[in-house]
Amino acid sequence: MSGTGEALEVWIDQDLCTGDGICAQYAPEVFELDIDGLAYVKGPDDELRQQPGETAPVPLTILQDVVDSAKECPGDCIHVRRVSDRVEVYGPDAEDA
Ligand code: SF4
Repeated sequence: MSGTGEALEVWIDQDLCTGDGICAQYAPEVFELDIDGLAYVKGPDDELRQQPGETAPVPLTILQDVVDSAKECPGDCIHVRRVSDRVEVYGPDAEDA
């Protein structure tokens, strides 16, 4: 699994989000549906990151749940990338997704 052990962060492209809530079911620690019906990432402070492209850290303990969310996301709009070089490791723009 690429990216294992490295610091990762995740963001959602709300323009493509269908609002089905799969991500929030898989990993409610980092994904939440807001009142606009779209999913947003949230950080350790539990605050939603609502600026376009804004990221939240991925706790390694729930990495698999976040990866599964990215794979199942019907909008293909969950992007997981390395913090160090911003290369996407899971999601629609990852080379080995
Ligand atoms: S799984 Fe994808 S499309 Fe569904 S709510 Fe989450 S980000 Fe939006």
